[in-house]
Amino acid sequence: MLYPKKFGTNPLFPQASDFRVVSKDQSSGDGVLALRSFSAGELVAVISGEIVPDIRQHTLQISANKHLLDLYFTGYLLHSCSPNISVDMQRMTVTAVKDIAANTFLYMDYAETEEVLYKQFPCSCGSENCRGWITGSLEVPAGSRIESNPGSVELA
Ligand SMILES: [Zn+2]
Repeated sequence: MLYPKKFGTNPLFPQASDFRVVSKDQSSGDGVLALRSFSAGELVAVISGEIVPDIRQHTLQISANKHLLDLYFTGYLLHSCSPNISVDMQRMTVTAVKDIAANTFLYMDYAETEEVLYKQFPCSCGSENCRGWITGSLEVPAGSRIESNPGSVELA
């Protein structure tokens, strides 16, 4: 069990035999490595943590003013624009959306749960559909151009 006993004893909580929080590299920092394989659609883990009222580094959003602080598992999930897991903050579950080989990092899309990020950042996930600059789902990317009125004609 990765979680302390105070979180409870749900057998579907992430197991220390299945996951390890390890440093990926200097720029990405820590990530969650899956030590075993998962099939697309498979439940990866049921998650838990402390509920806090504000966004912090390592929290995931449950609702407008409820955030999950889990410094044992979800707090270290890395971001990819082409994720291999989906995080459901209402059911408190992590599900594989692709086949995941053993010894692969778990990647979620931060915009799936976060309306506003603790900190926006440039992405280097390398996926074909990489958004380049990662924000929460309700944030306008910093520096992005507001689209001009589609009815207007721009003269060169
Ligand atoms: Zn990306």
